[in-house]
Amino acid sequence: MIRGVDHIGIAVRSIDEARPLYEALGLEIERIEEVPQEGVRVAFIRCGGTHLELLEAMGPDSPIAKHIDKRGPGIHHLCLGSDDVRSDDQRLRDAGLQVLRPEPTLGAGGAEVQFVHPKSTGGILLELSQPAAESDPHGS
Ligand code: ZN
Repeated sequence: MIRGVDHIGIAVRSIDEARPLYEALGLEIERIEEVPQEGVRVAFIRCGGTHLELLEAMGPDSPIAKHIDKRGPGIHHLCLGSDDVRSDDQRLRDAGLQVLRPEPTLGAGGAEVQFVHPKSTGGILLELSQPAAESDPHGS
């Protein structure tokens, strides 16, 4: 089930160059993490009840580098929080929507994530994310 907006992903050329804007807004970077399987370095910024996720390419083959080459920096995706990403993934498939991966994969913070192709959403790259703590009921 979808529970709300988890975060908004923003493609940036450089987290270091982007951060003064958010600091001027009085927001703080909570953590910076590398997600090599996605080719990105990610900064999480708490913003009220949600987060902004700054995405910086780790190399020229990163999907973020390709996105910036094509469209420039800016909003990259919208992420909805799920309490059961596998069942939401199945429901989307059953509805005929095009998901990007054969099954949910591990993203930043150990969350299980799936993406829905913009062709299926009217132009939005949609991420579904189930936080790590909730994907393991034993909390290890
Ligand atoms: Zn994201």
